[in-house]
Formats: sequence, structure tokens, C-alpha cells
Amino acid sequence: EQVVLEVNHLKKYFPIKGGILKRTKNHVKAVDDISFKVRENETFSLVGESGCGKSTTGRSILRLLEPTDGEVIFKGDNLLDVNKRTFRHMRKDMQLIFQDPYSSLNPRMTVKKLLVEPLLTHKLATKKEAEQKAEEMIEKVGLSKEQLNRYPHEFSGGQRQRISIARALIVNPKLVILDEAVSALDVSIQSQILNLLMRLQEEFQLTYVFISHDLNVVKHLSDRVGVMYLGQMMELASTEELYENPLHPYTKALLSAIPTIDPKEKKERIILQGDVPDPSDPPSGCPFRLRCPMAHNRCAEEKPKYIEKEKDHWVACHLFDE
Ligand code: SF4
Ligand code: MG
Repeated sequence: EQVVLEVNHLKKYFPIKGGILKRTKNHVKAVDDISFKVRENETFSLVGESGCGKSTTGRSILRLLEPTDGEVIFKGDNLLDVNKRTFRHMRKDMQLIFQDPYSSLNPRMTVKKLLVEPLLTHKLATKKEAEQKAEEMIEKVGLSKEQLNRYPHEFSGGQRQRISIARALIVNPKLVILDEAVSALDVSIQSQILNLLMRLQEEFQLTYVFISHDLNVVKHLSDRVGVMYLGQMMELASTEELYENPLHPYTKALLSAIPTIDPKEKKERIILQGDVPDPSDPPSGCPFRLRCPMAHNRCAEEKPKYIEKEKDHWVACHLFDE
């Protein structure tokens, strides 16, 4: 398969003032050496609890945050090497959709203006062509032409998310990063938007990076899933493989916490101890060890290697790297 996006050893560290003397230079390793590939037309999901670095990863790929180190290879170019001008030009091929469309849609612009603007900014159409395109696009996301003259506040949350999807897709991107794109919506609206996203993916041959904390949603629409914890990739596999045959104790715990609809399906819930540690003061060795039911001596001493345990199934845990 064709690889659209390749992330190699990506790191994003944020400086913080730390230590008792407040003089020690320290940093939070929000993303700490993660690697993955995204294949053409697939949905690749990044899951994990809040603060695990999944959003920072998405933003670093788009250089909304400048990565500390690593490579982001998109259609053969390392995005971290290209100059600002070239990057601006490439940016239209990579769009981001956020959780809260209200904050990303300028409230003073009509929907028409919101849809026309990216086409004009990237010089992809004349004003007349752009307006024509806006009319087509608004219908593709399930709204109507008549609604183009309205303002974002006149729409419901689900409708606003449809507008931001239209705005992202109108420039005909290759890759779309969806950061908790349905998390703020009611469950029934969520599934409408997810179905819309899957339809549009087909129609426009899109590749998705889907960032979410919700393992039910992720299972529904992903081809492959990466599980992050404290800025690191714990496990990565095809959706089927990950949900049927999870290897990492963290993945097992996350999956055990999903409520099941079928009462006959017996599941033993693995209760994790404690909270996610302070990312500015992570544990030695395995980042998960303070909460891991399988932790042993080696886990404190040595950071587990990220290995391909089975074909296309990666895991970072000492239970698998002996
Ligand atoms: Fe648990 Fe050790 Fe594996 Fe980390 S390396 S997940 S602490 S068993
Ligand atoms: Mg987030």
C-alpha cells in the first residue's frame, strides 16, 4: 500500500520551569519519540487518555506546533525541512478539524464566506467559482444552499461540525486530521457525523488521522489504531487485531473499561490504580509501570523497546521483548 504520511521519531518537548530553586531547566515530553505510518485512504486512529500527547502529535504534524525533533514525511517531503512558503503551499493538502467548531469558525463570517475563504487564500478559484463550489460543498455535508447566508451561531453543534467539515474539504485535501471531532456531540448526532465522514472519505479518497479518547467510536471507523500513553506509543495494530488480541497491559485495561451492550458477553474490568502521572515527572523505565498490574523489576530499570511482535502489530512492553 501507498504510505501518505510517515512520522519518524517525533518529539515535542515543552520547556517548563522546575525544581525547588526554579532555576533548573526542565521540560515536559508531550510527545516522546513516536513513529507510525498512515496509508492511503485509511483511517488511522490515535487513542489514549487526555494528556497522552495525541493532540500534540496532530498539531506537530501540521506544524501548528514546531516539533522538537523527528521527521514528518508527507508525499515524499519532510515537512520539518521545507521552508515556510513551500509549507504554506502544502498545507492545503492537510486539513485539521477540531472538537469545537464554534471556536474555529469565525462568528462574524457567513457560512458562504467561511467556505469561500480557503479557496481564495490558496488561490484555487475565482470568487465566482468559489461560490459555486461552496454551494456544492454545503450540500455534500447535508446542509442546504439557503443556509449559506447564515452565521455559525444560527446552527446546532452538529450542523456547525458539518460546516467545518465542508470548510476543510473544500480545498480538496489528501489528509484530514480529526481531533476529537465528534466528542462534544450527543451520541445520536455523533453517529450521523461519523457516517458523513465515512461517506466523504469514500467520495473524496481521503486519508484520516482520527484522534480520540473514545474506543467505541475508534473501533467503528478505524483501519488501524495506535495507543498512546504519556507521550509514547504503547501499541499499534489493525483495529481487528488490537480489539481481539491486545498485547499491552494498558490497551487491555482500556478495552476492559468499554461498556458492552451484550450482557452475555462477560468481561472482567481491569481497574487501573492511580492517575496518569504528571508528565513533567514521568516514572523511570516504562511510563505505565506505576499503574500496571503486570509490572516487575525490569519495568522500573529499563524502558521497553517498541517492537513489531507480530506482523503489523507493534508493542512496547517488557512482557514481549525478552
Ligand atoms: Fe507493565 Fe512492565 Fe509492560 Fe510496562 S513494561 S506495561 S510496566 S509489564
Ligand atoms: Mg486532546
